[in-house]
Amino acid sequence: MIIVLKKNAGEARLLALTKRLEAQGLSTQLLQGVETRVVGVIGDAGRLDADEIRSLPGVETVLRVSEPCQKAGRRCHPEDTVVDVSGVKIGGGQFAMIAGPCTVESREQLLSVAQSVRDAGAQLLRGGAFKPRTSPYDFQGLGEEGLRLLAEAKRLTGLPVVSEIMSVRQLPLFEDVDMLQVGARNMQNYELLRELGRIRRPVLLKRGQSATLRELLLAAEYIMAGGNGQIVLCERGIRCFEAETRNTLDLSAIPALHERTHLPVIADPSHATGEARFVRPMALAAAAAGADGLMIEVHNDPAKALCDGPQALTPPAYAELAAAVGRVRAALAE
Ligand code: PEP
Ligand code: MN
Repeated sequence: MIIVLKKNAGEARLLALTKRLEAQGLSTQLLQGVETRVVGVIGDAGRLDADEIRSLPGVETVLRVSEPCQKAGRRCHPEDTVVDVSGVKIGGGQFAMIAGPCTVESREQLLSVAQSVRDAGAQLLRGGAFKPRTSPYDFQGLGEEGLRLLAEAKRLTGLPVVSEIMSVRQLPLFEDVDMLQVGARNMQNYELLRELGRIRRPVLLKRGQSATLRELLLAAEYIMAGGNGQIVLCERGIRCFEAETRNTLDLSAIPALHERTHLPVIADPSHATGEARFVRPMALAAAAAGADGLMIEVHNDPAKALCDGPQALTPPAYAELAAAVGRVRAALAE
């Protein structure tokens, strides 16, 4: 940390500042310029509150030279984390396709979609049982029955399942869910994040629709601070002024996150675009940008879907997309 002093900051203020820092186990180095004096702080300044130092008398500005050492940060953990979802590995060069309906609607619907995506090579089955709908009058999901159907689909197809948890109270119902999804709307539900830090199951953490990458990483930090490091981050589109697509897929978030964190990063082009015809190009782009996986919504009859039908791929369209993603990955490896 570097502290720039105000021009009129006298010796007494400088002495009080250095004493305060030394009391916290840090040492200081004074740089005396012609007009400006600068104090370099040496040691683990990560615990210092920059805003508090900035508010001290005699202090002009404070610059953080290094980010505080955070569990999600690459600085303190250079190797890629590989998340293991009941045997399916994501990250560190291992790529996973997560596919399935937006919402579990019925036994027939779920089993039909699950078998198609399994046959097309998907590694994980997705399906919402508790749905965060914008309107309270829209279909809210089958709840516990939806989770029961997911467990059955898992038994029949062998695919581990991913489903969204919306509240701490639902945790006992999620025993058979292999990966717990925190949706965009809950990315800053800190009570839920803390609770997920206490369990030992992987978490799929989706980026809030107006969250910065820093906020996403700090949300992951909440889970990691509790001891659960099995987290996959998901870019699912952010909200901006553009209204042609449901959201705007922030493709650059993929390499930017890879630079800042060791956690795997996947993309969800279904929610990002909201339109089935845009899902394939954006899925290929995300794979080319280095995503560690993709989450794709698939429905056996999109026109009749109870939720997110316009963005759902049919099973044949999904199979074609999966093959194209394979070709992009092969080209990247050349
Ligand atoms: C979902 O994946 O079903 C979902 C609701 O996504 P998001 O939280 O990204 O809107
Ligand atoms: Mn959906």
